[in-house]
Amino acid sequence: RVKEKWAATHAKHPPTRLALHHFDATYSVQLGKLWPSVRVAMLSERKYGALLNNFCHDAVLVDLQAKGCRDFITNREEDGQCVFPVFTVNHYLSCHPNIKCLVFPRGDVTRFKPARPDAYGLLSYYLMDAASVLPCLALDVQEGHNVLDLCAAPGGKTLSLLQSQTISKWFLCVNDTSVSRTMRLRKVLHSYVPKQFLTDEKLRITSFDVQVLVDVPCTTDRHSLMEDDNNIFNKIRVGERRRLPQLQLELLLAGIEAACPGGEILYSTCTLSQNQNQGVVEQAICLARENHGIQLEAVSLRPLTQMFRNTFHFAPDLHLGEMVIPHLAANFGPIYMCKLKRLT
Ligand code: SAM
Repeated sequence: RVKEKWAATHAKHPPTRLALHHFDATYSVQLGKLWPSVRVAMLSERKYGALLNNFCHDAVLVDLQAKGCRDFITNREEDGQCVFPVFTVNHYLSCHPNIKCLVFPRGDVTRFKPARPDAYGLLSYYLMDAASVLPCLALDVQEGHNVLDLCAAPGGKTLSLLQSQTISKWFLCVNDTSVSRTMRLRKVLHSYVPKQFLTDEKLRITSFDVQVLVDVPCTTDRHSLMEDDNNIFNKIRVGERRRLPQLQLELLLAGIEAACPGGEILYSTCTLSQNQNQGVVEQAICLARENHGIQLEAVSLRPLTQMFRNTFHFAPDLHLGEMVIPHLAANFGPIYMCKLKRLT
């Protein structure tokens, strides 16, 4: 143990404190009266969801249900006020009938036990922020699609996509520029997915700096508030932090160029920052039109937020995209997502 008062190496301005000052200054303006409750949630222990691994042979679903968990995707808490037609809402589910993510009830902060391997060495579930599954549902992958997961490591979203029943009928390319994180991604995939699904014909893992995938690096607000290690608010990383919106813009533009006309691009982050969210998407729409003659339209994700509004807290009235905001009763997120469709 370190006696903080005496520790010579104790940072005068720990990155977590700098992150909190920065968020207080920017998010109190951006989120107004919502900020105090979001702040309390972000400074409290986050809530996880257990993404069930359909490739695992152990039946853990019943065990988890017996502990009080429910699959928030197929077993939604309805309040009878859904304003979207049932067919619109069910559309997202019919494309991903197999993705199951178990969560404890609202306000219940019980922790999941670490997943155990089955007789074949495959782990039964992957723990992640349950809101991270939403961009995968929103992507709406269907038979015959080619999917490019551009910033894929450590692989939570890749693993969610791989759970889909239609996986054998589409091709997935996963990319990440970081070699060490790509190694982690490989390890995750090998711990969860049988070898026959990891062949080159089904799945390709690349490490090119091609700047195409769109679950972009960001200020990872929760991590920045809670962990001093690898914290982007560390003073020596000021330049890197300031360059983030530009990197995010380049990645999104690369994703837009990689998609074909008619194709769809899902941009997501885990920050509340307007500059890194709507700001980047607005600029990308504008630059794609001016520099590449590409017309884009934003696709509404309201049906998705309607479906899951009893599991997550969504930011009200965003003019572009949707955002899960942390709340003490449902401490998931932040996750921002915006879906764009290439018209030309
Ligand atoms: N999608 C991942 C998941 O669900 O587990 C999380 C992705 S994380 C938010 C962002 C990733 O972007 C990091 O792994 C980082 O190495 C990668 N990255 C950063 N710059 C990149 C670039 N220029 N091209 C591709 N990937 C990049």
